[in-house]
Amino acid sequence: MAKKNTVAVYPGSFDPPTLGHLNLVTRAAEIFNEVVVAVAESTSKRYVFSTEERVELWRKILPKGMKNVKIDTFSGLLVDYVASKNAGILLRGLRNGIDFEYEISMAQTNRSMNPDVETLFIMTEGHLAHLSSSLIKEIVYLGGSVKGMVPPLIERELKKRIGPGSQSEVIKD
Ligand code: ADP
Repeated sequence: MAKKNTVAVYPGSFDPPTLGHLNLVTRAAEIFNEVVVAVAESTSKRYVFSTEERVELWRKILPKGMKNVKIDTFSGLLVDYVASKNAGILLRGLRNGIDFEYEISMAQTNRSMNPDVETLFIMTEGHLAHLSSSLIKEIVYLGGSVKGMVPPLIERELKKRIGPGSQSEVIKD
């Protein structure tokens, strides 16, 4: 596919990144010159993994050859962050109607704040549409396997952090 000179920012909590997120980034990297995965810094939301840990997890699961994907963190207004990266595109994934309902008002609000930033969506791959970080955390917390939902490294880290026998009670977004 022909690429224009475009930078797309893909923001999210990524607590942790899943195979759904990775699929989206892989496809975006084919379309845009550069994709910036923007990990939301911990604020009032409680995360299992710290900001630095989520960045590190992304670094470890990204295929080595994928040179046009960068990992960064952001806090504050997303449109300001996107503008600060000289990126005209804010990229989000859509899994279902619930995502759509939420995303459409976000996209409209962001557009009203900065019309130079265009929100674009990539539809999830059918077999990954049911994946969400919160569901995956719940499964691990309850002792189940999340093979095929996250890369093996992430499953190991999740088990250490919130699996049976760990001390943590933090499982919800
Ligand atoms: P947020 O808290 O910003 O929703 P998430 O980490 O849950 O952060 O998701 C980040 C982005 O990835 C969102 O656009 C979300 O819709 C998308 N996403 C989440 N899960 C999947 C999936 N299984 N397939 C494709 N996109 C997904």
